Order: sequence, then structure tokens, then C-alpha cells
Amino acid sequence: MTAGTFERRRPTTRPPDALEPGAGFIIPATVEQLALSAGLFWALSANRAFLGAALKDRVPSDLSAWGFGAAMLVLVAALNTLLLAVAANRWTVKPLIAVMTIVAAAASYAIGAYGAYLDPSMLRNVLRTDLTEARELVSAQLMLHLALHAGLPLLLLWRVRVVVRPWLRAAFVRVGLIVAMAAALVAAVLSVFQPFSALMRNHKELRYLITPANVLWSAASVAAADTRGAARPRQAIGLDAAAGPSWAARRRPLVLLLVVGETARAANWGLNGYARQTTPQLARLPVVNLGAVAACGTNTEVSLPCMFAPVGRRDYDEARIRGQESLLHVAARAGVAVRWRDNQSGCKGVCEGLPYEQVSPLDAPELCRGSRCLDEALIHDLDRQLDSLQGTQLWVLHMLGNHGPSYFRRYPDAFGQFQPDCREDDLRLCSLEQVVNAYDNAILYTDHVLAAAIAKLQARSRDVDSALIYVSDHGESLGERGLFLHGVPYAIAPTEQTRVPMIFWASDGFERSAGLREGCSASTLRRHAAPTPAHDHLFHTVLGLLDIRTALHEPSLDLVEPCKDGRPSPQ
Ligand SMILES: [Zn+2]
Repeated sequence: MTAGTFERRRPTTRPPDALEPGAGFIIPATVEQLALSAGLFWALSANRAFLGAALKDRVPSDLSAWGFGAAMLVLVAALNTLLLAVAANRWTVKPLIAVMTIVAAAASYAIGAYGAYLDPSMLRNVLRTDLTEARELVSAQLMLHLALHAGLPLLLLWRVRVVVRPWLRAAFVRVGLIVAMAAALVAAVLSVFQPFSALMRNHKELRYLITPANVLWSAASVAAADTRGAARPRQAIGLDAAAGPSWAARRRPLVLLLVVGETARAANWGLNGYARQTTPQLARLPVVNLGAVAACGTNTEVSLPCMFAPVGRRDYDEARIRGQESLLHVAARAGVAVRWRDNQSGCKGVCEGLPYEQVSPLDAPELCRGSRCLDEALIHDLDRQLDSLQGTQLWVLHMLGNHGPSYFRRYPDAFGQFQPDCREDDLRLCSLEQVVNAYDNAILYTDHVLAAAIAKLQARSRDVDSALIYVSDHGESLGERGLFLHGVPYAIAPTEQTRVPMIFWASDGFERSAGLREGCSASTLRRHAAPTPAHDHLFHTVLGLLDIRTALHEPSLDLVEPCKDGRPSPQ
């Protein structure tokens, strides 16, 4: 190799850049100019819902409304710019803006299309979404929104070349920008302090519409909580749990099937008096319907751990619930064989360390399409399972239920009774009537799955004592107040999202084995649940049904307590 073949490159003055523009049209810009432009762009493009909510009770003819709106806009833009000015340097500014522009566009779509609030609980829900769920959320509307709100600005960003200056001057300008943005933020708040503080006090949830700060804040909260949680092992509860006296008298295996529903709301439940009969099969069975039950949360990530915790909503403490064992661990400690079968996105820590099984297309190919299975796949082999049963069993079946927005994918054609049904993943392409029809068809199918499960239990009731509880995790909005789906912060959530159906069925043998007075009536259960049956009752009722003795058991929250032998008759 001869000298001169390689020319030693002169050190470049430009920073290495992930979005390196080629030759041609180039926009020179400093980090500060980029931060300011991105801050303003996000404020204008992704905060329509926040500004709309902040200005809701004002009229355009009122001059102060314009002042207030302008102050809010300055506040959001200054906040965005400030965050970028603090976090970015000349190497990271373009990648940061690119990522946050995509995040802001996706967030503003979710807020605009579904009325979502991106609080930590919602973000946890989003982060735990599996690929199949995510795929159903991708629609032409979303792609168009992303193309306009992220694609175009990214094309522009790609042509930007970051201007490099002597570091002292760059530092001076940066500090200047940070001070200016902090000042603008304070000035904007002070100029409208009274109405602004009233707004934030009365509508705390509005802060979760400020995009993309909402996503950053919520992601940081979730990460902090998870790091704290991961550092500690799950705290054991119910260490005194033991089998009750009725166990010794049992001659046959006993199984409690706990079916956790998904997104079924009390209002559309036929047994609750809905105008449509969406539960015709259950209506023919001797099930106890508990009416509109208060859910513990408005999304799966909150509701599921809470339903299986002793404290529930009445003393809600998310960190405590996530840090502790669940009802299932207490039952297992008492000698119950526990297992979880899932047709959704997992047990959210509730069944950690216990037998867990995900429904797979390999088990019941005729009930599955792609990686998604209909809920009948949860019970396809129930007969066989019941044949080889021993001892006391608690089986949790986690349904896909009415998981939205693709309600039409949750039921086979035979259950498309309410027509026309929405057959789009994007609800906005359908009329409200079509959306409700598809939702009701999915309830109709849940009714069928539950009735089929009860039929299988009934068919084996000579050999196995069995009972079934069904309860949904949270409800759903179907266009009421412009809201769709679920996940609105609990304090302001509409009842459509917080009231769910719940039913109970037991074989005669189960009632005897569990020490329940024969034919303990539905009205007794309902009266004990008054004034409002709730998820809070679940933990204690399951302990009561399985006759598990522990100091955690609160008889006042055990719905079957008045039916126990030896208790004074309520009538
Ligand atoms: Zn859910």
C-alpha cells in the first residue's frame, strides 16, 4: 500500500448527527432555535383538547377568554421549550425532537379520538399493551394524523443542520433561553393566576392533557414506581391463612371458577334491565345477578390488582396493592390449588409465581384467528379438566370480553344479532348505533360463554361441587359526553366506566360443601351487598366461599356471610 492512497480526513467541525441531511436544501439552526420551534409546534399541534377544556366555560365575545387562552398557549409552549432547553445538547436535540414529535402526535390522537387522559395509570396501561392489542388500534385515521403531525415536521427536521458555536457563547445563549422561558412561564401563570389556580384545583385531570409533558411526567412516575417496586420483593399477606372446618367434611372435589370479564359495563347487561336482552342464556339459569357493581378502577392495570387485594377502592393505595401478594396467594397458602388461564394481556402481577397459562391458537385452532382467540377457548377443555379434579380448586379465567375498540372481533358471526354492527377498528368510521350494536353483540357472546361454562359445571355436578363468579374489570364509554373506550381518571370517570356486571352461580353440592344454607336467596346476597356491591367485596367473598380462615377476612364484605350455616337467618 503506498502513501497517498489514504487521505487523512480533517477533523470535522459538525457534530455526528443521527438525522444527517445530504446535500441540497439545508436549514441551519441553533439548538435554542430548534427548542423554541418544537416547543411552539407541540403547543399548537397537540394541545387542542387542553385549550378546549381550559376555555370550556368561556364565550368568544368575552375579551378575558382570549387573554386566558393566550396565557395557556404561552404556558404550554414555554414549558415544552424549557424542558428541551434543559435536556438537549447539539447531538441529542434532533433525535429528542423527533421522538417527542411522534409521541405528541400519537398522544394528541388518543386524546382527540377517545377522550383519553394520559395520567400514570393510563400510561401504564399503554406500556403494557401487547402487540396484538396495539395492532387493533392502528387505523387509517391514526396513520393520517401521524403523517400530518409527525411525518411532515420530521421531513423538515431532517433538513436541519445544527449550527455549532464556541461553547462559551452557546452556554450563554442556552442559559438565556432557560431563564426567558421560566420567566414566560411564571408571567403566563401570574397574568391569569386566579382563574388558572381555580381551574387546576377543580379539574386536576386537565394537566394530563398538556402534551407531550403529560407523557413525560406519567412515564417518569411509572418508571419510578416500578423501580421502587422491583427493589422490594412482594410482601406476603394472610400468613395465617388456613382451611376452614368445612374442608374436613368434603367428600368431593370443589372448584370455584372466577371469570374476570373485560370492559363489560353494567348499563348494557341484559340482567340489569337493559332495554335489549343481551344476556338471554344467563336469564334462563338460576344465577344471582348483583346489579351495577362499583369497579375499583377504569382500566385493567388498576382494576385487576385492586380486585384481588384486601383493601380495594375504599382504602385505595396503588403502591401498597402492587407491592403485596393477592387473594390468590392467600388461597394457595390455605391449600387451594390456584391457577390462572388468560385470554388477554396477563394477570398484572396478581398470579405471580402461581400456575399460569395463556390461551393459544394451538389449543383450540377453530376458535382462533391469528394470535387472537375467542373467549370460548378459555373453556374448550373444561369437561376434561373437571374429570381429573382433586381437592379444592380456584381457577381464574381472564376473558378478552368486550376489549375495544374492535368489538366486532370479539364474537363469531352467529352472535352478530344486533345489526348493523361496526366492523372497523376505528370507531369514528362507524355511526354510534353501529358501535353500540357491536358492543352489545360482544356482551351476547360473553353471555353464551358464561352459560356454556355453567352448563359444563352442571353436567359434572354429581362428581364435582362447583360455583362460578363472573365480574367485569371496568366499564366502557360508548360516545356518552363524547367519550369512547375507558381509562378516565377515577375521580371524574362517568358511571359507564365505573359500573360493571357481576353474577354468581353455585351447584347444590357446592352450597352444602361450602357450608352455605341451601337456596340462600339472591335477595339475601343483594341485601348484604347494599347500598353498592363493589369489587371490594370480591376478596372477602372468595375467602368466604372457599372457607379460608384468616384475619384478613372481613365478614361485612363477604357477600355469602349471611348464608353461612349457624348464622342467624336474615329473615
Ligand atoms: Zn380491562
